[in-house]
Amino acid sequence: MPSLFNMPVDKLKGIGASRAILYNKLGVGSVGELLRLYPRTYEDWSNPCRISEVSEDTPCCVRAAIERALKPARIHGNLIIFKFIASDGYDNITITFFNQRYIYQKLLEGGEFIFYGTIKKYSGNYEMSSPTVSDVNSAGIHPIYPATAGLTTKQIEAAMRQAMSLLPPKMNDPIPADIIEKYGLCSLDFAIRKIHFPDSFEDVENARKRLAFEELLILQLGMARLKGGGTKEKTSHIVNKDYSSEFERLLPFRLTAAQRRAIEQCIADMKESAYPMNRLIQGDVGSGKTAVAAAVCYTAIKNGMQCAFMAPTEILATQHYKSLSELLTGSGIRLALLTGSVTVAKKRVIYDALENGEVDLVIGTHALISDNVAFHSLGLVITDEQHRFGVKQRAALISKGANPHIMVMSATPIPRTLALMIFGDLDLSVLDELPPGRQKIDTYLIDSGKRNRAYNFIKKHIDNGNRCYIVCPLVEESETELESAENYIKKLKKTVLGGYGIGLLHGKMKPVDKNEVMAAFVGGKIDILVSTTVIEVGVNVPEATVMMIENADRFGLSQLHQLRGRVGRGKEKSFCILVSDNQSNNTRERLSVLCRTNDGFKIADEDLRLRGPGDFFGSRQHGLPELRVASMSSIDMIDKTQAAARKILETDPGLRSKEHRGLYFEISRLFAKVGNTEQLQ
Ligand code: ADP
Ligand code: MG
Repeated sequence: MPSLFNMPVDKLKGIGASRAILYNKLGVGSVGELLRLYPRTYEDWSNPCRISEVSEDTPCCVRAAIERALKPARIHGNLIIFKFIASDGYDNITITFFNQRYIYQKLLEGGEFIFYGTIKKYSGNYEMSSPTVSDVNSAGIHPIYPATAGLTTKQIEAAMRQAMSLLPPKMNDPIPADIIEKYGLCSLDFAIRKIHFPDSFEDVENARKRLAFEELLILQLGMARLKGGGTKEKTSHIVNKDYSSEFERLLPFRLTAAQRRAIEQCIADMKESAYPMNRLIQGDVGSGKTAVAAAVCYTAIKNGMQCAFMAPTEILATQHYKSLSELLTGSGIRLALLTGSVTVAKKRVIYDALENGEVDLVIGTHALISDNVAFHSLGLVITDEQHRFGVKQRAALISKGANPHIMVMSATPIPRTLALMIFGDLDLSVLDELPPGRQKIDTYLIDSGKRNRAYNFIKKHIDNGNRCYIVCPLVEESETELESAENYIKKLKKTVLGGYGIGLLHGKMKPVDKNEVMAAFVGGKIDILVSTTVIEVGVNVPEATVMMIENADRFGLSQLHQLRGRVGRGKEKSFCILVSDNQSNNTRERLSVLCRTNDGFKIADEDLRLRGPGDFFGSRQHGLPELRVASMSSIDMIDKTQAAARKILETDPGLRSKEHRGLYFEISRLFAKVGNTEQLQ
């Protein structure tokens, strides 16, 4: 199959340059990738039902002959209805199409066809609206592809049949034979042919199982390789004495039991084992991860180490610097902030101080991985993930120390299965408890008809001295982020909120400008902060009590939960208003999860269940290839593939042997797509 990945998809008949662009939208550039575009679902045309025996609203197929074509009727404006009366030999059914002129040439009177769709019964008459039509010879199970505008599933099916004909008589299987046998998998050859054109649903099941196994196996192997094959070296940074109770005495509050447990786990890692700590701290928004980080840094520093704390944006780095400085006041610990916008002269001072061991804890952005940064004795590296550091960036910081301890903080609760995948070799501490006194954030889902009421609600809060966030994601592709937000503000100015201080934050702004806007919001000069992006709101403004999210259906649940966590940080009751006009049941159900619960872990599970892992983080930035058939909720298969991956790596960590060539190729191909190639060499 490798060679088909080198054959552009427009080599197929019927696919020219413009259609190739549509295929590209589906992630298909080559014939090989086309073959890996699996059907979304199937229609079973093999067993036509009797019209009268079909249950309403269940997709089915009927075989019927056209008795009569009715005259087209024009209803409201441009909509033209074409109706046919057909019969399956027992009952008549009315079949309706909209605006499909060509249908008259196809459905000639007397002709027999297979119609696939749902049947409704109106006062004793059967009706089917816009069914799929095909001729009687094409019975069987038909693939339905994830079509895109301008590209129908039928067209994809036709291209797929051509692609099939290009397959070699026997495909090379990337999965080694012993694994195929051990786990009872079918061959790649069978899987690719049958996932597209199955003879039975059992075929589909077998093909899916095999392809899912392959995906998870490749994911595991690829991750392991990114992490350097899991080889561990010992560290000389050892904690001899635990200073966490001394640290706690500096705090204005008592640690929660969950915080204390996480701190204990970290310190145990750094104390007992000769290997560096490698731990993920997961906690819901507001669970107090920063205090955990501070406690661990405190102990590490008192034991002679330097610590580096890397955050994905300037705003977050600055925020962490401030909170850590507060948490560590009176400790004698020397902190520094290193970001892109620090002046060159100041940077030099910090570089020197780090190298001479005169700074104990440096907090910063990617600026920390600059070649100019060297440490005296870097013993602990903390990254505030938000899933936005590539493995490579984390590795670059780690390489500035001699096997330092590693602590990763994840602000989005991740379901355990997914955490295992992404951070496979990390130990996990979970902060499953919030500090006392936190109030639940009441969340409401409204449609845009109620927007003005929501504005009045916001007005009341501002009049009481509070502040509000409005998040409006980019909706129209024709607009830039800035235009879209400016248009929103223009409209906002004409509402009851028009007279208040309105600020704007968008993704393309320079860090200095962002900081300025944030400072105005923190200081209260801005009452309403309109923001286009999620990222930049990772800040602590206790006076903010309302968060309104426009087009909320655009976001994943975990992202929404994360956003919502920006309010409810002070003493006052806070609210979140989700605005969406999307009426689909699925979307309403998804969003209503947020109205029901404030528990980030529950929300993460629901998110994963409803959207799958590909979309989980709302972006590809976590560096994982997309899963097409495998499910992250299948713990059993994750376990099996993990075991298989481990076994492969034990004997051939570089995947250089002949029998692993196929796997190596697939890993390179899939991880290259998400921009991780150079690390795979
Ligand atoms: P997150 O886990 O979202 O990063 P933070 O570390 O920013 O949460 O903590 C949120 C707020 O809670 C901060 O203002 C912090 O000072 C406070 N906080 C942390 N731990 C406790 C605690 N045990 N008791 C009371 N307040 C706490
Ligand atoms: Mg935080």
